[in-house]
Amino acid sequence: MPKTLEAVCTDDDCTLDMFELHYTYDMPDETGITDFACPYCGGTDCLDEVEL
Ligand SMILES: [Zn+2]
Repeated sequence: MPKTLEAVCTDDDCTLDMFELHYTYDMPDETGITDFACPYCGGTDCLDEVEL
């Protein structure tokens, strides 16, 4: 199965709580949470990966 990444936005002003990223098999292994931005506030420093 391709990786699924759960992310939370920790920005106090952002009302988005958690979202999920579903990778395809083509996603490079080194791709991580720092490569993405919050889909709501657009922040890149406020995302944290949730360890399941
Ligand atoms: Zn956000």
